[in-house]
Amino acid sequence: MEVSFAKEIEKLKLGDGETFEGEGILAVTKALLQSGVSYIGGYQGAPVSHLIDVMVQAAPQMAELGVHVEPCTNEASAAAMLGASIMYPVRGAVTWKSIVGTNVAADALSNLASPGVMGGTLIVVGEDFGEGSSVIQERTHAFAMKSTLCLMDPRPNLTSIVNAVETSFELSEASNTPVMMELRIRACHVQGSFQAKDNVAADISMTQLLAEPAPHVYEQLAHPPATFGHERKKSGERMQAARDFIRDRGLNELFEGRMHKDVGLIVQGGLYNALMRALEELGLADAAGNCDLPIMALNVVYPLVPDEITAFVEGKRAVMVLEEGQPEFIENEIGTILRRAGCDVTLAGKDIMPLAGEYSAPVLLEGVGAFLRRHLPSLGNVLGEQDYDAEVQGLKEQAARLLGAPVPPRPPGFCTGCPERPFFSALKLTEREIGKVHYSADIGCHAFATFAPFNFGNSILGYGMSLASNASVASFQKKPPLAVMGDGGFWHNGLLSGVASRLLNGGDGVLVIMKNGYTSATGTQEVISSPDPALKLKAAEKSATHGETTIEDALKGVGVKWQRTVHTYGVAKMRDTLLEAFRSPFKGLKVIVAEGECQLERQRRIKPIRAKALAAGERVARDRFGIDEDTCTGDHSCIRLSGCPTLTVKPASDPLKTDPVAHVTNGCVGCGLCGEVAHAATLCPSFWKATIISNPTWWDRAKARFSATLARGTVA
Ligand code: SF4
Ligand code: SF4
Repeated sequence: MEVSFAKEIEKLKLGDGETFEGEGILAVTKALLQSGVSYIGGYQGAPVSHLIDVMVQAAPQMAELGVHVEPCTNEASAAAMLGASIMYPVRGAVTWKSIVGTNVAADALSNLASPGVMGGTLIVVGEDFGEGSSVIQERTHAFAMKSTLCLMDPRPNLTSIVNAVETSFELSEASNTPVMMELRIRACHVQGSFQAKDNVAADISMTQLLAEPAPHVYEQLAHPPATFGHERKKSGERMQAARDFIRDRGLNELFEGRMHKDVGLIVQGGLYNALMRALEELGLADAAGNCDLPIMALNVVYPLVPDEITAFVEGKRAVMVLEEGQPEFIENEIGTILRRAGCDVTLAGKDIMPLAGEYSAPVLLEGVGAFLRRHLPSLGNVLGEQDYDAEVQGLKEQAARLLGAPVPPRPPGFCTGCPERPFFSALKLTEREIGKVHYSADIGCHAFATFAPFNFGNSILGYGMSLASNASVASFQKKPPLAVMGDGGFWHNGLLSGVASRLLNGGDGVLVIMKNGYTSATGTQEVISSPDPALKLKAAEKSATHGETTIEDALKGVGVKWQRTVHTYGVAKMRDTLLEAFRSPFKGLKVIVAEGECQLERQRRIKPIRAKALAAGERVARDRFGIDEDTCTGDHSCIRLSGCPTLTVKPASDPLKTDPVAHVTNGCVGCGLCGEVAHAATLCPSFWKATIISNPTWWDRAKARFSATLARGTVA
């Protein structure tokens, strides 16, 4: 990983009374150290990658505190790490992206929740739900309920988040229950400050070693018949202990409201800021958070504390529950609590609010406005939704006027010079020869090929699951199906769930592994087959990934009989290798390792080296591609086969050409794909390549003079 987190690491060193300033997820990281954790693990993914990335780079500081940090190979191994706290009084935390990561971790989490924990355990999940999300829309809440885990959902401000982290460990220890904490994208990136405390070194840690292992206690194993007893304890004494702790420590917050005491709002803590923004627009709150209505903010959304709910509704005619996503778990539970207690209060929620989707401030404004108009009709005239709607509409019109013309929709795509793009150009050329094939897509940068101009993919079933997802397709298709996964997905679980399973069952198929050297889509974290950093520096000016060949070794080790490694920028060679795989008489798994280092990562390491060389007056050469406007026919096949953002169009300067011509902008990193595609697809010869030389030698100058003389002579 090349991005430096040096500034963030400095903030982790702050002590008592100093002020921490920064974003939410870094505040969580600091709070973990203030809580005396012995170990931290996790698997990266938005919006919580920052936590584990920073911890990995802060290894020296962690070693000083005796904290063991482990970037895990997947979420299951992260969850299993928490097993340390079952029999030892050590605090530990792990992190991942939810819901997908929670699904992967499910087995270990269930088996952790069953015996429960002695040391406090915290699972920080990035609740990737809503408009900015990159995964399926499901909620962690369901998992917490079914495995009887506590679920924190703190108000999105740094002090509340830090308090939630610290009290989560106490809650976990008081109830012997693992605690999850869901942080939405906005909470992870919220900016703010809090008063820091000293970091705490744990009593048992990397530097404070135990002489003996824990005793064998059969009842603490997630193994029947012990699990039957666990079931009773989980829902009985452990949940009761959790509820007592939540109530006694006041984890949920009550905001009395300045008036209108006969109605109330119960909100997930994580939605509190958006609710206050909506109430401000309705004229019922100010920017400082002072509100006219009584609000109960649930910083712990599971379990609920019945006494707290009944106390809040006392004296109220109507209460609205604001709960993002479906189904309405919290609302249903509150309904049960109120019914059992015989409370006579109108309960509103998903009957007014949308069942699914993000509860942004405009959505809350509409829903809460509707609730208030129904239950506080006297407010009807002062609610400011119309003003808000007019304001938003005015801003949209102003933006449209400034732009002059509508912005064309543009799908997300590969970075400029990405090594994965040439593979998909080659696949397009392959399809010209053999027609369409069933394509199982996966999670990772290569999923950009599902968008234009490639439009590949028949299904996406999960991270590293592409090969497994076409196991049965092979049985009813004439052509072998194709699966594409990244090296991140391969090591996450593709090797076992895909490759080993296909070999066990003897099915046909073609698997392409994009070996770009990192889990690029989550921030270029390293995988086991990442290029060796020392080797990378030596090979700085080479475009290939010069890492360990562990993917190939692993494939050979499990028994793959047909495998090829091809550099992605060799489009013609890749096309021929794909054709060979699809036409092969060998009926079994055929694997192509598509090699090419992530361009983002490559540029990160090459740019400083290039800048240093330039400053030292050394010769530096870089390639640029361009298009000869006179030769370009304007059919744009090159764009349809590439999709590079720097390969675009511009109006032709020749008045006889009515169509725009292709054009390469200054963003070109000279990856060479344009030339390769033009050659492999026998396109028009309009591409040219120039080498830009800084600090040229006498030989470079002599060659340039000679070429210029030759060109002048040719022209004359
Ligand atoms: S991050 Fe790397 S692998 Fe992903 S699109 Fe960009 S260059 Fe390609
Ligand atoms: S050579 Fe072509 S594909 Fe590569 S960065 Fe330049 S314009 Fe994009």
